[in-house]
Amino acid sequence: MIDLRSDTVTKPDDEMRAAAAAAEVGDDVYGEDPTVNDLEARAAERVGMEAALYVPTGTMGNQIAARVHTERGQEVLADRKSHVVKYELGGFAQLAGLQVRMLDADPRGVPTPAEIDASYVEEDLHRPGTGLLCLENTHNARGGLAIAPEKIDAAADAAHDRGVPVHVDGARLFNAATALEVPVADLTDPIDSVMFCLSKGLGAPVGSMLAGSAEFIERARRVRKLFGGGMRQAGIVAAPGLRALENVQDLETDHENARLLAAGLAEIDGLDVREPETNIVLVDVSGLGLTSEDVLDRLEDRGVRASAFGETTLRLCTHRCVSRDEVDRAVELAAEGLSSND
Ligand SMILES: *Cc1c(COP(=O)(O)O)cnc(C)c1O
Repeated sequence: MIDLRSDTVTKPDDEMRAAAAAAEVGDDVYGEDPTVNDLEARAAERVGMEAALYVPTGTMGNQIAARVHTERGQEVLADRKSHVVKYELGGFAQLAGLQVRMLDADPRGVPTPAEIDASYVEEDLHRPGTGLLCLENTHNARGGLAIAPEKIDAAADAAHDRGVPVHVDGARLFNAATALEVPVADLTDPIDSVMFCLSKGLGAPVGSMLAGSAEFIERARRVRKLFGGGMRQAGIVAAPGLRALENVQDLETDHENARLLAAGLAEIDGLDVREPETNIVLVDVSGLGLTSEDVLDRLEDRGVRASAFGETTLRLCTHRCVSRDEVDRAVELAAEGLSSND
């Protein structure tokens, strides 16, 4: 089976397993796990922030950030197609008591300064006040778009002018930096906090990092405990995370494979393939006269897995556990599966 559903399906390699087995550990809730402490220090350094916190999932990282940055009843500005809006079970409402004001003006999912100005709500007797701007990089649902520093800068400036902090859901932040050929710090300099996943393209089995100022992370540590994310001998899973930080340079291979995958699929009649910017390929299958689910079934029968991303859109994700040969093979199998008249 060639599994292109997500880059979360990557399995830890032998080095990661060996690192887990050999990890020095302690009770991380007491701050005594040397491996976690090392990971937090190195992650902070990588993203150019003062401090970082190891969290079990990206979702928890985003939710902790929202909770720390805001007060109950405030509004959070977020793109209509962002992960925090679509795929986190309304967590901002459930866990931080926030109302989401969904923005939609920009096809790359980054609100323009004008849109931020227009959406900003000043607190008064009747109005809740805007407490946070949340951006996403790469932007998953819009096709793995790598958002350039200038766009982040402009949005962050507009928010900061109003006294509104900015969090970036950077589940695939290193994919963005790789695609844009900029240092990660260029993407994080203008913002207040960032979450990135170790468990996606970087290949770790578990975990994400939340980074920000030392004061922000101190508060985030308490909220992590509140949300049930205080782990004990977490060095066992943090050790593969440390190895994962060394895999950043391999992301370019995933991006190249995504371009090959897209070019191959584009040759198949009835498929409208979006040119990928990173490791995510969106394919509109409406030209086949089939639904996403029909197409997924046909692919699965041939040994290829993808995800449905809407009624007639599929998402295919390249990652370190799919080789270039397997990408070529996936295109062949898709061509067979989708040209047959069964
Ligand atoms: C995967 C993902 C997350 C959440 O990560 P989990 O570890 O699955 O909770 C958040 N944002 C984006 C854009 C993602 O792709």
